[in-house]
Amino acid sequence: PPVLAVVGRPNVGKSTLINRILGKRVAVVQDTPGVTRDRVRYDAIWNGRPFIVVDTGGWESKVKGLDLSVAQQAELAINEADAVAFVVDATVGATSTDEEVVKLLRGSGKPVVLVANKVDSDMQEADAAYLWSLGLGEPYPVSALHGRGSGDLLDKIMKILPQTSLVNSRYRSEGPRRVALVGRPNVGKSSLLNRLAGEERVVVNELAGTTRDPVDEFIELDGEAWTFVDTAGIRRRVHQTSGADFYASLRTQNAIEKSDLGLVLLDASEPLTEQDVRVIQQVVDAGRALVIIANKWDLVDVDRQEEFNRELERELVQLSWAQRVNLSALTGWHTNRLSSAMNNAYENWNRRITTSKLNNFLGELSAAHPHPVRGGKQPRILFATQPSAAPPRFVIFSTGFIEHGYRRFIENRLRETFDFSGTPIEISVKVRE
Ligand code: GDP
Repeated sequence: PPVLAVVGRPNVGKSTLINRILGKRVAVVQDTPGVTRDRVRYDAIWNGRPFIVVDTGGWESKVKGLDLSVAQQAELAINEADAVAFVVDATVGATSTDEEVVKLLRGSGKPVVLVANKVDSDMQEADAAYLWSLGLGEPYPVSALHGRGSGDLLDKIMKILPQTSLVNSRYRSEGPRRVALVGRPNVGKSSLLNRLAGEERVVVNELAGTTRDPVDEFIELDGEAWTFVDTAGIRRRVHQTSGADFYASLRTQNAIEKSDLGLVLLDASEPLTEQDVRVIQQVVDAGRALVIIANKWDLVDVDRQEEFNRELERELVQLSWAQRVNLSALTGWHTNRLSSAMNNAYENWNRRITTSKLNNFLGELSAAHPHPVRGGKQPRILFATQPSAAPPRFVIFSTGFIEHGYRRFIENRLRETFDFSGTPIEISVKVRE
């Protein structure tokens, strides 16, 4: 479901408003500003449409060593939401902190509804009208405490929320996990497909209630259902001759786009080719989970083993995180190891690190290993967030340009600390004053 973040200064009534939205008293209301409270997500529903409400109060207490201002907290929340309810205390009016948050909201491009809270009577509606000056459009006067105006506000919220979350599920689709079995001709794709389908004897052709593309095949591996996409080409054993290369690579690209996970087959008995590397790169560039399969291992002797490992290391320097399985589609040797590698890569691909964990990690990391001084300046990391998974995407906010080497250092430490094997991760940096 789409995600609504409720943002605002302490004591403007965020938690009271959330209780009102949820229709019951759940969110803990604290009168003391800055009281320890974790960021919380609640399931909400209005007019039959589910959505998620994120309460952003009290993050600072959870983040060791980083002093997050209200505006910075808001920035984190905005990043992780599909839409934002910005709450202002109408009896106080807009403060300079509110105006800082307004700037962030404008810059974010996310849909916003301006909530003028504590409008308990008709008389006070004039207070709300002043908030037009914030430039966020019409202020919605409500009394979160008494419920006044909350129906209209919810209608408005449903209008600005997208149907599904754009933030949390860029690629995730309903139903079984989708996998693309790819690789250059003759590496053993159809042999492996037959092996997997035959061994399990549960090639499900018609899964109840799903409409299925005839070129896709359901295969259950160790109790886990997978959709192998675009298998018609593999089944028909269309082995490309020259000139068909372009179409082969297009079909590969299509299969990858439709999938969560790319299974790239290599023929370990032969030297690694440019085409092998290209297919692997296609999976990485598409941001999909990756498992590399070294097939025909029955033909590989000890010398070839070492050579093959060297070839892989040389060609795939940046991809030491990929999951790899050595097997033989022909004899069935170690094909039973495939499903756990696939599950692993898929899970890591979907991994989300909470904002507090991420910032604790970065706080410690940058304290122990600060960015090197460059041209008399030393960029400082302020905080970070993971706006989305599948693949994990991180945004780091810093006071200056972060050089490539330091980014890689952060990536490597992220991978060590939280398990991201089998998935690409994206890190982008935003510079703040
Ligand atoms: P595809 O073009 O990728 O679908 O490759 P195929 O599945 O048609 O396999 C190409 C050739 O390699 C066939 O002759 C297979 O029998 C052979 N082959 C596939 N897997 C293995 C394996 O693990 N070991 C050996 N020795 N041969 C294999």
